[in-house]
Amino acid sequence: MRLDLPENAEFIIKRLETAGFEAYVVGGCVRDMLMGREVNDFDITTSSLPEETKSVFSDLRVLETGIKHGTVTVMVDGQPFEVTTFRVESGYSDSRHPDSVTFVREVYRDLARRDFTVNAIAYSPSVGIVDPHGGREDIEKRVIRAVGDPYKRFSEDALRILRALRFSSTLGFQIEAETAKAINTLAHTVKSVSGERIYTELNKLLLGKNCQYVIDEYIDAIRAIIPANGDFKSVSRCPGDAAMRLYCLCGEGIEATLSALRADNRTKHICRLLSVSTPIPPSLPELKLYISSLGRDDAEIVVSYRKAVYGEDEEYNSSRVLSSNEPLFISDLAIKGNDLLALGLAPKQLGAVLASLLRAVINEEINNSREELLEKAKEYK
Ligand code: ATP
Ligand code: MG
Repeated sequence: MRLDLPENAEFIIKRLETAGFEAYVVGGCVRDMLMGREVNDFDITTSSLPEETKSVFSDLRVLETGIKHGTVTVMVDGQPFEVTTFRVESGYSDSRHPDSVTFVREVYRDLARRDFTVNAIAYSPSVGIVDPHGGREDIEKRVIRAVGDPYKRFSEDALRILRALRFSSTLGFQIEAETAKAINTLAHTVKSVSGERIYTELNKLLLGKNCQYVIDEYIDAIRAIIPANGDFKSVSRCPGDAAMRLYCLCGEGIEATLSALRADNRTKHICRLLSVSTPIPPSLPELKLYISSLGRDDAEIVVSYRKAVYGEDEEYNSSRVLSSNEPLFISDLAIKGNDLLALGLAPKQLGAVLASLLRAVINEEINNSREELLEKAKEYK
């Protein structure tokens, strides 16, 4: 079987082979090529030691990105390729970091330390597919299956539990029964993984096409990882935004989750905004005031979320209101603060008066014209 490799990846493999080593593309890129999915990174695995790789590419720029773990980055035409020595890992005493990494010369040993069968396939144009764990068959069956004993593999590295859920979500694969059982039994051990890494995987999981299936099927496991007490049956109805989906999943547990995962500021803002949001009002002037008090950006977030998840906002289309040029914000008023100062109002009154004028316009008591606004403003002198 021939796979279509980019020229630069093929160049690296050929160069290593000519120097007497084995080299393959491996992992996600092979899986994605076999599935006809777009590939972002072509990772290369090789029998050459990092120092040997460096000398094979001594005419190119080689970065020592993770030399202790066997990884160097070879730059070809400005494009980076991670080239990693075949290795095995041993002794995960903290279910997170291998105690030691040992370089080996056989590709099958490197493939055996990988997480799932679909990620444990190597390929080179000269050798073809190397697939000792039945990864191709599992791709065909659309199954995530641990390489080897799932209990052992998840006990070595608890991050793999989240990776299994994430791949099930993004690839739309089911998780094989034994692997699934081990996930349910060992989910609580994910607590040993750093918040940042949980967060990265969770974000990918939440944006996967199969996220609702994974959440429904593995809610107990997910709850062992984060407090997921929200409207979690509706996650897939949310707009395609990881922060909104995280809020939907967690509900009242959101504050604890945000700090445990060290969520970024945008995510924190969106989740907090949604947690204090109130139902979209059904009448038009109230809807305008609602949008007005939130501000345009926050209103767009709240409205798109509540519409999708709670089915609110059927009567009036708030997106239409938001995109209309009807006055909704103080900046839309036909007068400015200076006009009020000219009328003789005190500077400290300005904010409150402008807000009250805006309310009068939204309630259709007056028109948004200079004359009517100034007339009304006189009442506050
Ligand atoms: P993505 O499309 O998200 O990049 P990927 O499969 O390439 O998916 P990476 O995190 O880039 O995932 O890892 C590259 C490869 O390294 C995987 O395909 C897998 O073979 C191996 N791998 C990554 N993380 C682990 C892990 N925690 N345990 C075992 N093998 C792993
Ligand atoms: Mg990858």
